[in-house]
Amino acid sequence: MTFKTDIEIAREAKKRPIQEIGAKLGIPSEHLLPFGHDKAKVSQEFVADARGRKRGKLILVTAINPTPAGEGKTTTTVGLGDGLNAIGKNAAICIREASLGPNFGMKGGAAGGGYAQVVPMEDMNLHFTGDFHAITSAHNLLSAMIDNHIYWGNELEIDERRITWRRVMDMNDRALRDMVVSLGGVSNGFARQTGFDITVASEVMAILCLAADLEDLQNRLGDIVIAYRRDKTPIYCRDIGAEGAMTVLLKDAMQPNLVQTLENNPAFVHGGPFANIAHGCNSVVATQTALGLADYVVTEAGFGADLGAEKFFNIKCRKAGLTPSVAVIVATVRAMKMNGGVAKADLGAENVEAVQKGCPNLGRHVENVKSFGVPVVVAINHFHSDTDAEVDAVKEYVASLGAEAILCRHWAQGSAGIAELATRVAEIADGDRAQFAPLYGDDMPLFEKIETVARRIYRADEVLADGKIRSQLKEWETAGYGHLPICMAKTQYSFTTDPNRRGAPVNHSVPVREVRLAAGAGFIVVICGEIMTMPGLPRKPAAQSIRFNEEGLIEGLF
Ligand code: ADP
Ligand code: MG
Repeated sequence: MTFKTDIEIAREAKKRPIQEIGAKLGIPSEHLLPFGHDKAKVSQEFVADARGRKRGKLILVTAINPTPAGEGKTTTTVGLGDGLNAIGKNAAICIREASLGPNFGMKGGAAGGGYAQVVPMEDMNLHFTGDFHAITSAHNLLSAMIDNHIYWGNELEIDERRITWRRVMDMNDRALRDMVVSLGGVSNGFARQTGFDITVASEVMAILCLAADLEDLQNRLGDIVIAYRRDKTPIYCRDIGAEGAMTVLLKDAMQPNLVQTLENNPAFVHGGPFANIAHGCNSVVATQTALGLADYVVTEAGFGADLGAEKFFNIKCRKAGLTPSVAVIVATVRAMKMNGGVAKADLGAENVEAVQKGCPNLGRHVENVKSFGVPVVVAINHFHSDTDAEVDAVKEYVASLGAEAILCRHWAQGSAGIAELATRVAEIADGDRAQFAPLYGDDMPLFEKIETVARRIYRADEVLADGKIRSQLKEWETAGYGHLPICMAKTQYSFTTDPNRRGAPVNHSVPVREVRLAAGAGFIVVICGEIMTMPGLPRKPAAQSIRFNEEGLIEGLF
């Protein structure tokens, strides 16, 4: 059986003018700032007005630990949004923008898939409305001003060996990871080591996604720690005086982007922080705007629920005062099989036993999400090769946990394939059953916050950290950062810090390698294992297959 590719399906979309999509949410056309006919930003004034209304119910889409088999969180987020609209509800979708780096690296976009996609997918996966370019520019303006400050005499006494602020670019380019700048003589400054991260790893990205408005944005940018002096005291962005100009550069990027699904329903696509060293979900501004305008808002958190949902709850919801009504955990038969020990090449063959063996990974995520007081429904994202017996095995397992799993065929059928899930999710949201609370209070000491997540979410026995890390955390507590939430950066593939340990492992420890203060974003990054902030391209990058065909259409993006 052959299927159309995502881009072929997207190309056939019967898009409506963006003003019509805005009208569905009651956005007057003078508050839509169009980019062509199918994309628009929503004006800052309208966003401020919508935010106060708070009428909608928030639905989180999260997943089991990712496997190479693919789970389909974005696809399910988009499908569920269409499904809710198809059963007569007023629903909007909120997802992240795409980074150029992975698009040209590994195949795979950020707009969903099959008949559950956001369009125009080519634009969304390329420059879109320029937000990431603006973030790149704002970040690099600060970098340039730091080196310029040193050049003109270094009045702030920046220790050139302790500059933490690097440069960014939205490209996978390993050659830029570590470098020496300011070579070439007196007029080029003082040579020093630094490097580039990918734009989505910038603290400016995380800040834009958590800021309430332009004023908050500017304050947070000012709070960024850019370097330390020889006596280890911090130097802030506001000491350099960059936060005003950075905010000016980010004025348009702060306004959420509105596009549509294949079924012409509204989708906000805004912001795209990394899900490891940052919190991995779309902007607070987009979510709050959507909640002010729609009755149901479906949103996605990156990676599996151990990272994505945990940070969505403990960072985004805590900071923005959001209260999710229900969470959908996406699972696939294929991923259960991989968790049960089947190799990727053998996923096509029926194997009920392996499905059963892999289910405890799903079970642990169900328990974890429930522990935040949020009701859970499992969505089984149906793949063509799944058999009835395999699907039943997942359903039976989930039922044995006292939860429910619903089979969804939105990838193949659009909204028609996800009506049952949409109906159930709306019922649960309307029942106001959630009693959401973050996992830990603001006042808990930082190290205990790490232990709480490690024990309760990863089910680790202990957190390993040497004295240097513990005393760093203590210093930050003394400096007034003790109330911040933690942002865990660990492998997405396992509950443990070892990417190869699938399933629901016990008896493991979580070693903390490094801690970083993101004072502007407002969290402390806890690095457990190797974390890449500038990815590289694979041997055969997707870019080699991306081109215009004879009809002038883009090929190879998917
Ligand atoms: P995630 O958000 O979890 O990373 P996506 O929703 O972006 O995953 O999906 C990743 C890829 O998997 C997309 O190319 C999509 O078309 C494909 N995919 C998703 N669901 C299905 C399905 N049910 N059958 C076949 N392919 C699917
Ligand atoms: Mg996704």
